[in-house]
Amino acid sequence: MPTKEDVIQRVIETGSLPTLSTVASKLINITGKEETTIYDISKLIAQDVSLSSKILKVVNSSFYNFPNEVGTIQQAVAILGTNAVRSLVLSFSFLNMERPQHGEGFNYGRFWEESLAAAVASKLIMAKVSDGDPEEVFTVSLLQNLGKLILACAYREEYDSLLKEAAGSEKRLLELEEEHLGANHAYVGGEAAKRWNFPESLVIPIAYHHNPDAFADDNPEMRTNIRVVHLAALLASIMYSGNPIDYHAPFRERAQKMFRLDTASIDNILEQASGEVAKAANYFGLNIEGTASVPEILQQANIELSLLNMSYEQINRELVQSKMQLEKLTAELEEKNAYLEEIASLDGLTQIYNHRYFQEALDKEISRSIRQENELSLILADIDNFKKFNDFYGHQAGDYVLKELASLCTEVIREYDLMARYGGEEFVFILPETNEKEALLVAEKLRSAIEQHAFHYDGEDYRVTSSFGVAVFSGTGKPMKKTELIERADKALYTAKKKGRNRVEPYVEKSGWFGKSK
Ligand code: GH3
Ligand code: MG
Ligand code: MG
Repeated sequence: MPTKEDVIQRVIETGSLPTLSTVASKLINITGKEETTIYDISKLIAQDVSLSSKILKVVNSSFYNFPNEVGTIQQAVAILGTNAVRSLVLSFSFLNMERPQHGEGFNYGRFWEESLAAAVASKLIMAKVSDGDPEEVFTVSLLQNLGKLILACAYREEYDSLLKEAAGSEKRLLELEEEHLGANHAYVGGEAAKRWNFPESLVIPIAYHHNPDAFADDNPEMRTNIRVVHLAALLASIMYSGNPIDYHAPFRERAQKMFRLDTASIDNILEQASGEVAKAANYFGLNIEGTASVPEILQQANIELSLLNMSYEQINRELVQSKMQLEKLTAELEEKNAYLEEIASLDGLTQIYNHRYFQEALDKEISRSIRQENELSLILADIDNFKKFNDFYGHQAGDYVLKELASLCTEVIREYDLMARYGGEEFVFILPETNEKEALLVAEKLRSAIEQHAFHYDGEDYRVTSSFGVAVFSGTGKPMKKTELIERADKALYTAKKKGRNRVEPYVEKSGWFGKSK
């Protein structure tokens, strides 16, 4: 890893340092010296006729707004002060400097535009925060990023890729410079300024412009200048980095912290900046790209940002919400369906299948019996003398018996048999794949279970009996309707009742007139 000194060495060796015009470099040198007089400066500038006329043009323009025409450089220096003239000279020499060799990714025009913006901004800021010399900070700001230009010339493509990777983030760029080259542009700029014999008032702020807090010297004037230059750089970044939002909050925050600037003053600086930059650029013969004011730039960026965030967040939020909604609805629907189905197919009192479900189940079992060519049996059961039971013991005891009997019978039948409440005190059993003989056995088992069961309710034991009628459906025999099957079971049950109750009877076909009941 090269040291900082190595970087400077390389910069010098490769001849990458831009050469200043003689006038500019001499001017910088003499303005830093106390013994320099207005006359010295005027004489120096006057050597360059074209420069002199440019300066006079700017001095007499609305950039300075003097009431009377300034006719000579000497007058200009007297009126504006040496630093103002120096910044004018530097502006002209830098902004119109011959384009040095640098990588393709380095936008030279843009670089000076941004530098000029920072210079103008620092003048604006200085006017708000201190009675320090605005021309001094103008010059520093103009040159603060000279290190970038130097590095771009010395490292070309390598520096291009750093610029690209930093993607408009000044902080990232500094890190990348240190990481990949060994020194950042603030350091390189400061060192270059030293080698050009710039006065300390320029060298130090250039070196510290990214890190004003690191300046430990208790020179308040210098500290103010460094801070102003730092803020101006942030403001220029709002205008030129392409990421205005990233610099806006820090600018406000630091302006407030460093100089206790109130919101109105900060707003005022932001509002004026672009207009002043455009004006200055015009005077120094620079074509500037955008003319949007800082508030406009920020507004646009905010709109884009909020649109971006909104659409992303909103889409996300809406997706999540609708997914949750859907899941909730589905769950609710499933629950409701299950509930509806349950209450639709179960009997409320006994919690066994109801009549409607029984009818559907029997349809299915009949079809299956036909398909599988086997027999199915139907048992109809009816509690004996239940009217009397209710009359003796009350309807509630009757209800209890119905419930208890239902669960008792459920335990007796096989898993694939189906028990349902046919209605009132009547129950029905579907026994798939069951012939009459087997069905009679099942019915008998049910009858006996009921007969032997003590229905224990409210401290009392109750006994009931039931009568059973059995009918068989044959999948292979003569086609029979469901209603016919039920009717047969009912007839068998009737026979059981007639024969004395508490018994099981099969359906017996009474053919012809012989069979007519008595
Ligand atoms: P049978 O032996 O001839 O069947 O005589 P029964 O009294 O059982 O027959 P009937 O059809 O005359 O009376 C049925 C009785 O069943 C009438 C009614 O009070 C009772 N019952 C029907 N449904 C319910 C019910 O949900 N709860 C109660 N507690 N009793 C019911
Ligand atoms: Mg009955
Ligand atoms: Mg009955």
